[in-house]
Amino acid sequence: MRIGLYPGTFDPLTLGHVDIIRRASSLVDKLIIGVAINNAKSPMFSLEERVQMIDEEIIPIAIERGIKIITHPFENLLIDCAKDVDASVIVRGLRAVSDFEYEFQMVGMNRVLSSGIETVFLMADNSYQSIASKLVKEIARLGGKTEEFVPESVQKRLLSFSQQKPD
Ligand code: ADP
Repeated sequence: MRIGLYPGTFDPLTLGHVDIIRRASSLVDKLIIGVAINNAKSPMFSLEERVQMIDEEIIPIAIERGIKIITHPFENLLIDCAKDVDASVIVRGLRAVSDFEYEFQMVGMNRVLSSGIETVFLMADNSYQSIASKLVKEIARLGGKTEEFVPESVQKRLLSFSQQKPD
């Protein structure tokens, strides 16, 4: 059984992430979405909220693809998380040039830490390529519309966030 780990902060989940989850689910028998606790990054959404938003979106994809997709919060090294969940493949999404250098370094260093785990890079559909959680949060904070960038359930949460905290 091929197990894939797709790690990220998912603060919040975007349509770009969902597209990568769909693509990854046709490559593995079980997909684990590793949700980085990442308190140092001061996420807008709590770990519980981020996990809940992902859980809502992965149920229909898992049914449609006939595979198991689960969320798995983690706080340790990515490579140790991959070992904990028995993943043989780490999935990362690749956007424009900006993602490349960091990802390139990470693969190189992870290879030193563990040679048995491969990283695969997937590109989202063109229409989702430019979406970034960071920008979605900025748009929401300033009262802009986010429905083109995030699933409906995430959009509702962003909306209440911007109404409660308009700054
Ligand atoms: P991280 O904290 O690891 O950057 P993110 O939640 O921002 O976590 O992203 C998780 C993964 O999803 C990363 O591999 C990132 O490159 C990828 N990703 C994010 N947005 C997109 C997108 N619009 N298209 C393709 N991949 C994406």
